Amino acid sequence: MRTAVIADIHANLEALTAVLNRIRTLQVDEIVCLGDVVGYNANPNECIDIVRSEKILCVLGNHDVAASGLEEPDTFNPLARAAVLWTREQLTGESRKFLINLQRELSVRDFYLFHGSIHDTDRYILYRDDAVDNFRELARLRQSPVIGFFGHSHVMTVLSEQNGIIATSLAHEDLFLQQSKRYLINPGSVGQPRDGDPRAAFLVYDDRDRNVTFYRIEYDLRRCQEKIINAGLPPRLAERLAWGR
Ligand code: ZN
Repeated sequence: MRTAVIADIHANLEALTAVLNRIRTLQVDEIVCLGDVVGYNANPNECIDIVRSEKILCVLGNHDVAASGLEEPDTFNPLARAAVLWTREQLTGESRKFLINLQRELSVRDFYLFHGSIHDTDRYILYRDDAVDNFRELARLRQSPVIGFFGHSHVMTVLSEQNGIIATSLAHEDLFLQQSKRYLINPGSVGQPRDGDPRAAFLVYDDRDRNVTFYRIEYDLRRCQEKIINAGLPPRLAERLAWGR
């Protein structure tokens, strides 16, 4: 089974379209999404429509939570909060319903999908302690080694664990996953990368040869920026796309 894993689309229609066009050439059997379909950029409804029509299996992200009104964006920084409140105004009833009905985590064959951390949509996996807690929970949820795919940080990340020892690997093009290890893997962000590379990110996981391939692709960034400005969203949101920050 070949699975394309995407995350943090953030209403960037140009990036999502470019990523899906590339995925179509890669003979995948399914596409899964790690949450934050909306927020920051200017096409929330259009991105939700695509996720629905493409039957992409999706979990709930923290921006999806706040934009749909499930919770207030009290902990968001001013920029993210402004975008959430703008998105709330734009969402159609259908879009809101779609977001509200998303699960926070999903168990699929040999992998587990969640947005920030297991059982905490808002918590980042950035530091060792975060990784320790998530590997422990992954082991509790699933006996045999398994892969946890997560998003939220917008940075391609590979962490592995064996007998309590955690290692970081470079998230480069191709990665062979060992049977005896657990993994926490972030495919990077489709719609707002934050690792200094403005290109859209995603990965493909092939469970037959236990191989993960990371991809970065160009998209029409200018068009996305224009839409942000024209929508009256904070101009800083357009600028940061070009920096990949
Ligand atoms: Zn996000």
